[in-house]
Amino acid sequence: MTDIVGFIGLGNMGLPMVGQLLKAGYTVRAFDLSEKSLKQAGELGAAPANSIADAAAGASIVITMLPAGQHVSTVYLAEDGLIASAAPGTLLIDSSTIDVDTSRAVGGASVEAGLEMIDAPVTGGVMAARVGKLNFIVGGTQEAFDRAKPVLEVMGQKLLYAGAQGSGIGVKICNNMSLGISMIAAAETLMMAKRLGLDLARTYEIITNASGQNWALSNYCPLPGLLDGVPSNDGYKPGFSAEMMRKDMRLSQDVALSVNACTPLAAHALAIFSHFCDSGDNQTDYSGISKLIGGDAWDYPFDPGKK
Ligand code: NAD
Repeated sequence: MTDIVGFIGLGNMGLPMVGQLLKAGYTVRAFDLSEKSLKQAGELGAAPANSIADAAAGASIVITMLPAGQHVSTVYLAEDGLIASAAPGTLLIDSSTIDVDTSRAVGGASVEAGLEMIDAPVTGGVMAARVGKLNFIVGGTQEAFDRAKPVLEVMGQKLLYAGAQGSGIGVKICNNMSLGISMIAAAETLMMAKRLGLDLARTYEIITNASGQNWALSNYCPLPGLLDGVPSNDGYKPGFSAEMMRKDMRLSQDVALSVNACTPLAAHALAIFSHFCDSGDNQTDYSGISKLIGGDAWDYPFDPGKK
């Protein structure tokens, strides 16, 4: 077993992932820019680090769980960043959802510096992170993947190998494009049922067992009172923020543009999430989109051209 794991990025996802590593007996050196997150990591039993180098000290694996590409670039490539401070041979695992170009750039720079690197973004969200049931989608060499497995298995239930470094993030972006569209579909479905005066609990049970079901509806219900343990029951506290979903939908549209893929529903879903975020709900859970979707048809406010 790797004794020391460095962990950088202790937010909604990072903290519960650290919790699982600690539970499995790993020593975790944890770093975040936020004092509050550092304190929370300390309370869980991690060793709070005062810099990236301090988190990497003595670690043979360092995991990053950061918001977006620019944060990953900074953490990896800065003068006092991860590549400069990790010991030769260290395996770097980036589990953030970022753009493919940044992932390949930091992966290439890591290998050039004598380190190993895999992209291992996750699906499953905060609830899965809390119980070690994330799904990791991995891009990198088979050897690096094999080396990462024992640590990933502690935090995840499925380890899915996607191919060369950068492929994990490619698959993840395609996945989240589908998720963003599906959450809006789930919200539209339930809000229309509500307006129709249907018994919502029965409607929910029937549709989640019929051809209209999707993952968002069945596992992350956007209306309260229908499914236990989801953010809609907790005032839409994230979870997965609407701002994160906007980021992922933007990533999907960047990819679509770069490969000339026609994705009209995703373009529209991005406009809807953008409107939601710009109306002050960027830190609301993304399932809170149902509050917007519940509006009257004649108030339909979206410009599908808006990014
Ligand atoms: P978050 O914003 O809650 O946490 C990110 C953390 O990174 C914050 O604590 C922030 O302070 C820290 N950070 C930012 N820049 C830093 C730096 N330079 N050095 C050290 N720490 C820094 O985000 P999250 O919800 O935990 O998501 C993290 C990643 O996981 C994102 O890419 C997101 O798209 C992805 N993801 C999230 C979910 C989810 O349900 N929340 C699900 C799947 C994937």
